[in-house]
Amino acid sequence: MSRLWDAQERAPYLAVAIDTPLRQVFDYRAPEGDSPVGPGYRVWVPFGRRRVVGVVVESREHSEVPAEKLRAAFEAIDSEPTFSPDSLALLTWAAEYYRHPIGEVLTSALPVPLRNGAPVRQETILWRLTALGREEALAKLPARSVRLRAIAQYLADHAQASASDILSSTESPASALRNLEQRGFVESFAREQSAAVPPVTTVREGPPLNEAQAAAVERIQSTLGTFVSHLLYGVTGSGKTEVYLHAIATVLARGQQVLVLVPEIALTPQLISRFRGRFDAPLAVLHSGLNDTERLAAWRDAREGTARIVIGTRSAIFSPLLQPGLIIIDEEHDPSFKQQDGFRYSARDLALVRAQRLGIPVVLGSATPSLETLARARKQPETLSRLPERAGSARPPKLLLVDLRKHGATQGIATPTVMTIRRHLDAGGQVMLFINRRGYAPVLFCPNCGWSAHCRRCDAHLTVHARGRDLICHHCGAQEPMPPGCSNCFADVKPVGQGTERIEEALHQLFTGFPLARIDRDSMRRKGELEATLARVDRGEIRILVGTQMLTKGHDFPNVTLVVVLNADQGLFSTDFRAPERLAQTIVQVAGRAGRAERQGEVLIQTEYPEHPLLKLLLTGGYAAFADGALTEREQSGWPPFARIALLRAEATTSDLPLKFLQDAHDLAVDFPIRGVELLGPAPAPMERRAGRFRAQLLLRAPSHSPLQKFLSGWLPVLAMLPEARRVRWSIDVDAAELS
Ligand code: ADP
Ligand code: ZN
Ligand code: ZN
Repeated sequence: MSRLWDAQERAPYLAVAIDTPLRQVFDYRAPEGDSPVGPGYRVWVPFGRRRVVGVVVESREHSEVPAEKLRAAFEAIDSEPTFSPDSLALLTWAAEYYRHPIGEVLTSALPVPLRNGAPVRQETILWRLTALGREEALAKLPARSVRLRAIAQYLADHAQASASDILSSTESPASALRNLEQRGFVESFAREQSAAVPPVTTVREGPPLNEAQAAAVERIQSTLGTFVSHLLYGVTGSGKTEVYLHAIATVLARGQQVLVLVPEIALTPQLISRFRGRFDAPLAVLHSGLNDTERLAAWRDAREGTARIVIGTRSAIFSPLLQPGLIIIDEEHDPSFKQQDGFRYSARDLALVRAQRLGIPVVLGSATPSLETLARARKQPETLSRLPERAGSARPPKLLLVDLRKHGATQGIATPTVMTIRRHLDAGGQVMLFINRRGYAPVLFCPNCGWSAHCRRCDAHLTVHARGRDLICHHCGAQEPMPPGCSNCFADVKPVGQGTERIEEALHQLFTGFPLARIDRDSMRRKGELEATLARVDRGEIRILVGTQMLTKGHDFPNVTLVVVLNADQGLFSTDFRAPERLAQTIVQVAGRAGRAERQGEVLIQTEYPEHPLLKLLLTGGYAAFADGALTEREQSGWPPFARIALLRAEATTSDLPLKFLQDAHDLAVDFPIRGVELLGPAPAPMERRAGRFRAQLLLRAPSHSPLQKFLSGWLPVLAMLPEARRVRWSIDVDAAELS
C-alpha cells in the first residue's frame, strides 16, 4: 500500500493531543503490535472512562509519567499519518503562538467524520470470485439458481465490481451475494483510492497580459520553489485575478497544487467559474454549505493530490496538500480571515508561516492592502507588484463628496444624490447604494420624553426590523415585538435613522417602477438566494441595488455606473486604532464596483464631515495616500505593524469580577519583567455589557512578537491559576484585530 508520508520508527511512548480545553498533551504507551504509528497518526485512546480519538504529536523514548499510571493506546486508526509533517508542524506552531489548546486546534483542522474515527482514506469495497469460485461456481451451481449464476457470470466477466454494480446489473438481492460468499465462491476486499497521480490538467488561453500584469506574473514565477511573500496591489478591475490564473497555470504545469483563500465563497461564484473556465483541472471548493460527507471528500481530494486547486475560506488554510506549490490570498485585507472566537487565528498570517515552512511563495492580493502587508512590502520592494490601471478599457470612477449638512435629504438620501441616481437610471445605468447597517432603523425613539428602546442584555439600542414589526438586538440576537408606544410615557414612538430596509422603502417611493434588490444577511438567508439575485443583477433585471458590506466583497458588477456610500461617518471617530483603515478599505472597495465596463463610473460619498482629513486624503490621493498617512500615524503612536499586541478579555455576570481578575493579572506581570512589554488597562470593553455579561479587557503591547511571546509563556500559566480565573470566562487574543 502506498503511504503519503512515511512513518518514523516506532517508539515506546506517544504524546497524544486530545480534544479538550486542557492545555497539554497526554502520554500513552504505544499500542500493541508492530504496525506503524508516530507523529500525525490518529489513535484510539482511553481517556477517563471514554474511548476517544487522539492525534499523536510526538514519539517518545521516555515518559515523565510513572509507569503504573501510563495507559496504552488502543490502536492506530489508519496505517498512515492523517497529518503530514508540514500540517502537524503548522498546527502545533499555531497552537503555541495563539495560545490555544493543541487538542482543539488539531481537531478543528479535521472534517467531522475524521474527528469521530472515520478512516483517513476512502475505501471502496469490491467483490471478486475466489479461486474456488472461478473453478466451480458456474459448473456446480444448479440451473435454477438463476441469480447466483448471474452474479458468478458477471464476476467472471468483470473480474471485480462493487456490490451495487453487481446487484443492479444482475437484478439480484444482497442475500444472493452473501449466499455465494458462504459457499466460498466470492470474496470482498478493500481497494483504497489511488493516490498521488496528478490528473491531466488543461489550461485555456486568457486575454494577453498588459505590461504590469506580465511583470507581476514573471516576478511570482521566478520565485516558485522558494518562500517569498508577494503583494499584488491593484485597484479593483486591474486584472489581479488574471495574474493569479497565469501563476496557477505555471504551478499546475510543475505538477503542484494551489491553495486559494477568499473571504466568502457565496460571494465569489464569478471567481470560481473563471477558474473552472480556465482550467480543466480537478478543483475542491471548501465552503460552509458543504455537509460533513462532502467536506470530507474535498479534504481527501486535497490531501491525496486529486484536487489540483483548492479554494476555500479562512479555515481552508489548514487543508492538507500533497504537493503544495503556491498559496494565494485574495482580498487579503478582509477581516474575515481573522477568526474572532475560540481558536483565534489569522489565516493570512498563517499562510505566511505555512509558505515559509514549505518553501513556496504566497501571493497576497488586494486593492486596499492591510497596513501590515503594506509595511512588509515597503521593506522588500522587490515583492511588490502594482497594477496601477484597470485592465481592458474600463476607466477609473469619479469620486465626489456630498455634504449632508448643506442639503436636504429624503430618508438619508440627499437631494443631489437623488438627482444623480435619476440621471444614471434614465441613461440606462445600474445604481448601487451602500449602507453599513441592516434592518429598518437603528433606534426607536420617543420624541415626547426622550426614551429609546434598549436591549435588556446589552449596552445597545434595539434595531427596528421588518418595517417596524420587530425589535432585534444585533449583538445578542434578542427579539421583541414592537411596543405600541413609549414604555415610559406611552406617547407615539418613531424609528430614527436608516438601515437597508428603510432605504429600500425610500427608493421604491422615489424611483417607482425601477426593479430593486436588497442584499444583506436578512434578505439573503435562504440558500441560493444570493447567487440568484446576483445573476438577476448581471442580466440587468435589477436596476437599483441596496446593500451592506456583502456588496463590497469581490463580486464584479460591470453595468453599475453609480455607487453611493450613504453614510461614510461611522468609523471616523472610533476608539479602535484600526477603524480608519477599515473605513478607507470599505469606501474604496464599494467605489471600485462602479464602472467596470466601458462606461465611466461615478461615486458619491455622503458625509457630515467633508473636511475630515481621512476623506480628503482618499479623495485626492486614493488608498495609497491614505495608507501613507495612516502608517506614519501608527509608527508615531506605536501601534501595529510597528508593535505587536495581545488582548486579554474577561467576562462575567457581575461587573466587578472581570475587572478584578484583569487587575490581578496585571499585578502578576511584575514577576515577568520582559523589556518593552507594556500593559494598558484593565478597562471595561467599549460595549461593557453584552448578552447579559459584563466585559473588560487588558491590552498588551510590545515592540515585536518575541518579547510578547516570551512574556505570555511565563504569565499565562500563572494567570490561569488565579482564584478569579475560575470565576470569569477569559481568553487571550494574540494579534487581536478588534479592540472590543
Ligand atoms: P481584479 O481581480 O483586479 O478585480 P480581473 O482580473 O477580474 O481584475 O480583471 C477585470 C476585468 O478585466 C475582467 O473582466 C478581466 O477579464 C479583464 N482583464 C483582465 N486582464 C486583462 C487584459 N490583460 N486584457 C483584457 N482584459 C483583461
Ligand atoms: Zn416617552
Ligand atoms: Zn442584546
